[in-house]
Formats: sequence, structure tokens, C-alpha cells
Amino acid sequence: METTFSKKNQVAIKNFIHGEWVSSESGQVEDVPNPATGEIIAQVPISSKEDVDKAVQSAREAFKSWKKVPVPKRARIMFRYHQLLEENKEELAKALTQENGKTMKDASGEVQRGIECVEFASGAPSLMMGDVLPDIAEGIDSGMYRYPVGVVGGITPFNFPMMVPLWMFPLALVCGNTFVLKPSERTPILAKMLVELIHEAGLPKGVLNVVNGAHDVVNGLLEHEEVDAISFVGSQPVAEYVYKTASSHGKRVQALAGAKNHSIVMPDCNLDKSVEGIINAAFGSAGERCMACSVVVAVGDVADELVGKLKEAADQLNVGNGLDQETTLGPLIRDSHRDRAVSYIETGEQENAKLVRDGRVELRENESGYFLGATIFDYVSEDMKIWRDEIFAPVLSIVRAETLDDAIETANKSEFANGAVIYTTSGKAVQQFREDMDAGMLGVNVNVPAPMAFFPFSGNKKSFYGDLHANGKDGLNFYTKRKMLTQRWY
Ligand code: NAD
Repeated sequence: METTFSKKNQVAIKNFIHGEWVSSESGQVEDVPNPATGEIIAQVPISSKEDVDKAVQSAREAFKSWKKVPVPKRARIMFRYHQLLEENKEELAKALTQENGKTMKDASGEVQRGIECVEFASGAPSLMMGDVLPDIAEGIDSGMYRYPVGVVGGITPFNFPMMVPLWMFPLALVCGNTFVLKPSERTPILAKMLVELIHEAGLPKGVLNVVNGAHDVVNGLLEHEEVDAISFVGSQPVAEYVYKTASSHGKRVQALAGAKNHSIVMPDCNLDKSVEGIINAAFGSAGERCMACSVVVAVGDVADELVGKLKEAADQLNVGNGLDQETTLGPLIRDSHRDRAVSYIETGEQENAKLVRDGRVELRENESGYFLGATIFDYVSEDMKIWRDEIFAPVLSIVRAETLDDAIETANKSEFANGAVIYTTSGKAVQQFREDMDAGMLGVNVNVPAPMAFFPFSGNKKSFYGDLHANGKDGLNFYTKRKMLTQRWY
């Protein structure tokens, strides 16, 4: 697998429909730069609704036979896929770093989390089992059977180009569905590699299709009458739009959205370990994680020492190209996104938050890529835009609170409720945190914790639209419909 991309060695991106790489009908393309260098490494087709229609027709046709393939046979393809992903780990991580910018360490972590989704899907024979209760009344048996839903459309974000597609299609496919994937137009390379490998593993044509592009492709999927379900992961406004539009077209929808994750630091915590966790969660993947720590709430007299240690640790981060081993903070995805983050730093200054560390210094030092250094604001309050909005960049806000009650109240005022963490050595504080925090994924003395593939990724409030989350039993229930059979034999 060739994974050194450059202007001269660009990746050819096409759509994948009915087992073939095909050009888009639209003829439109968009450049894909390497965020660390600005060099164009691919061109992505901006496809049309006609392209979507072809992919959906292919998936609908393939569904007729794929749903009849015995579950153990479908699972065996996942076992082979798992093996191929393992064998290509390094190449996948290297490609990921070049298209997304995250460091090789973060990219390798993402590759691993993606592979774990395939592991979970490989257990399909157990997952797909129904429930039976004999003799619900005299001579009558009752049982629940699982079936695939049909054609699923998957729409994914730029920040996890490997893991998020793998949240979706392996589980959907082993359940017997067919799939049309619309990767982020900013990171189309990993999708290409994932599709190549699963076909090497023996997936029949038409079962998984890819249509590259932007809004037109998304709308084509949301409105298409042959699409039965939509899995979406991305920003909050788009998630809400996708949820409303797809459900008004009669589809089952799960839409995972943005976040503003709070980490509460108690005076009794292990401070050095807490600082390590916060730095990793705030600045890992350049803050472009839905589970990034974007707000720290310092409780009581821990604040001054905490802020000092956070600044010290942030000063040690190495901004640079993620392919370099010593880099610990890679670039943002695009210059426009970096400029948006910079404008949030200006807003923070105007709002009179105290700028403890200004990441714009690193921006000036590295002009060829879309770099921004770690930025920290202290004395942030709930009336500030920098507290309210998802900035999705290495910009950390610190709020000071008197008590744990105040800290939880602040965190719960956010319209988002993806993850939240408490750093403490008090069991009582943990109990209160677990009971009162709204966020769907809680952590105690760990970085904002993304659950493993066998648990649901369970954001609340405006971090999620729908009923059944991605992964785990929720994912299984989302990708299957149930039939109840009640029978009497004379
Ligand atoms: P995004 O919303 O810009 O894009 C996501 C997908 O939607 C892309 O495929 C894009 O092409 C499409 N899209 C964008 N705008 C659209 C529009 N107006 N109409 C139709 N389709 C549109 O998100 P992003 O910037 O790629 O990803 C970052 C966001 O995703 C962050 O907000 C992050 O928190 C969120 N995210 C959430 C989770 C989660 O599990 N909750 C996981 C990863 C990322």
C-alpha cells in the first residue's frame, strides 16, 4: 500500500459503486491539502444526487442477496477484514496523519479504536440472536427475531476518518444491511483504503458503496426513498438538520453531534496526573475531538496551582508535522478552521478572559501548515462565547468555582452533554458527579473517555439526536428491526 502522498503522488479519489471505482457525474472536484504542509495530496469529487441514486440502487439490489447470506459467513468476512486492517496498521496511521494532520501517536490510537469496532462486529452470530420464551400460554411459544433494516446511509466527519466510518459500516453490514458511505470531503483517503481492504476480505459488490462530496450527496441520501436509515456524525447544526430532514422522510436516524466537555478538578485530586490527563484531552488531535476537554472547572483553592501547571505543560508541547516523532501538537484541518479558532481567541480577549497562554505564537512560526499552538484562558465565565461554543481547536477555557455543586451546575448549563470528567480522590464527590452530571460519557481520573466499541457512544442533549446511539447494543438495535413470532401448533 503506497502511503506517502505529495503533489506529485496524489491519491486518485473516485466513487465506489457496485464494486467499481467510477468518476462522478458532476465533474466537480475539490482539493485535499495535507494540513501540515498545505500541499495538495488528492482531489475529491463533489458528487451529485445522480451519483447518490446509482449507489443507492446498487445497495438496494445487493440487499436482496446479502440479507440472505448466513450470519456466520458475513462474520467471517469481518474476521478477514480485521486481519487485513491489523496488517496495514502502520500505513493506515501514516495516511491518516497526512490527510487529517493528527500526530502518528493519535493516528495509531484511532486505527486501533477502529479495528476494535470490526472485532465487535465479528461477534455477529451472538449479537444477532433473538429471544425465545416457550409456553407464554398453554401450547404457545413466543420469540423475537432480528433482521436487517435495509439500505443505510452513513455520513462522517473529518476528525476521525477511520474510526467513525468503522463505527458504522462493519456492524451495519454484519447485521445484513447494505451501505452507502459519504465520507468527509476534507478526509476522503482513509475511506478509500477501508473500502479496498474490505473488498480484499471478500465483500460482494454493491454491499458497500462510497459517494464522495458535500451537501448534495448528504441531501441525496436524506431524501432518497430507497434509503431506510441514516447514521450521521458531525457538528451540531448539521446533526439537527440531518435528524429532522431524514426523519421527515420516514427514516430511522442516529445523529451524533458536537460537544463542549468539562473536566472538574477537585482540590483533593492527584494534581500532576490530572494535568497530564487534561493536557492530553485538551490538545490531543489539536483539540479536534468530540471528546476533547474544552473547559476545566477548578474547584476551590486548586485553581492557581492548576493553571500554573497547565501552562507549564502546554509550553512543553511541540507544534509541527504529525509525521515527525517529536511532534505532540499537529495542525488544524484547514486554514479557514485555524482562522476561525484565532477569531475565538480574539473574542476571548474582548470578553476579558485572562489569556494565560497564547497559541498564536506558534501560528507565526509555522506558516506553511495550518498550525495553532496550545491556548489557555483563565477566569472564563458562562456568559462568554468562548465558554458556550464548540471551538474545536487547541483552546482551553478555565472556569473557577467555589464548590462541586457550582462546578456541576456550570457544566450542566452547556447545551452539549457528550463527556465530562472529575479528578478527585473522594468517592462521595464521584457519587455526586455520577448522579448529577448530564453528560452521557463520564470519567473519573481519566481523560474524557470514549467508550469501547461494545458500549454505546452515549451523548445527551444537543450532542445527540435520535434514540439509539452508535456502537454496542444500541448500534445493533439501530441496524436491526425485530419481528415477534407467536405460534401455536395443533
Ligand atoms: P460537519 O458537520 O461540518 O460535517 C460532517 C459531515 O456533514 C460531512 O460529511 C459534511 O460533508 C457534511 N455536511 C457539512 N455541512 C453540511 C450541510 N450544511 N448540509 C449537509 N451536509 C453537511 O462536521 P466536521 O467539521 O466534519 O466534524 C467535526 C464535528 O463533528 C464537531 O462538531 C465534532 O464534535 C463532531 N463529532 C461528533 C462526534 C460524536 O460522537 N458526537 C464524533 C466526531 C465528531
